[in-house]
Order: sequence, then structure tokens, then C-alpha cells
Amino acid sequence: KQFVLSKSTQFKKLKAEWRQNVYLAKSKIQGLGLYAARDLEKNTMIIEYIGELIRNEVANRREKLYESQNRGIYMFRLNDELVVDATISGGLARYVNHCCDPNCFAETVSVEKDQKIIIIANKKILKGEELTYDYQFEFEDENNKIQCLCGSANCKKWMN
Ligand SMILES: [Zn+2]
Repeated sequence: KQFVLSKSTQFKKLKAEWRQNVYLAKSKIQGLGLYAARDLEKNTMIIEYIGELIRNEVANRREKLYESQNRGIYMFRLNDELVVDATISGGLARYVNHCCDPNCFAETVSVEKDQKIIIIANKKILKGEELTYDYQFEFEDENNKIQCLCGSANCKKWMN
């Protein structure tokens, strides 16, 4: 028999256990990456994408500021109006790289009126595998393309 826990129960489990799910190491894709510290079953909530919740205008201003400081920018779009900025006050989830053939997905989950972004396994992941999800960046013109280095067989070559 399989029992499915409610989202809020899964989230409580995540808050208690996420440190046992992941470790940070040099990425096989780019820079640093996050890896599975143990085998993770499909649909496991692995880690929360933590950061500061800000509006679009603020996000645009900060993006320019960070760029001028040559800082790595870590932001996640929550919805049309809000962005989670993990650049200064983020958690380890910001190191999960993009991949065109990912083993995780990011989902917005409502927990007691708050919106949480959770990285969830989309298949069984073995200990030592690098965690990835599809960033789903909006399409950009030639001048603003970001090259994808994921190396998967179906790589789209660009992240946007
Ligand atoms: Zn790719």
C-alpha cells in the first residue's frame, strides 16, 4: 500500500530533513552544483528555494545593480508580479543548475497561506547524481541568449 502525505506534511518533513538530501560540490555543468546526498524517490520534496520575496520593479533594479557588481544573479520567478531573490539571502537551492533533461522540477506550493518554491524529484535519483531542473526562462532575442552547457542528448543549446 502507498500512502500519499499531504503537501503541508511533506513540507514539514522537508524542513526537518533537507540537509540530509543534498550536498554542494563542483558542478559537471557549470560552477557549483547541488548533488543528491542519498537516494531520492520520485516526487520527493528535496529542498526549498529560499530567498527574499520582491516585486518586478525591485527585481529589475537589483538585476542591474548585481550586473554592475559582476555578481552571480540568483532569482526565481514566483508569478507575474513576484520574484524570489536568492542572490544575497538565499539557500543552497540556488546552486541547482538548469538542464534540458532534468531530474527535478520546481513547483510552487501553498503552505499556510505562504507560497513556497520547492525542488521536487521527477524520477528516482541516485546518491551522487547532480540535481537539475528546467529554468523555463522566457525566450530572448539574439543579444540576450544564455548558452546551455547541460550536455544532455536533447540539449536546446540555449537557456532562453
Ligand atoms: Zn541544455
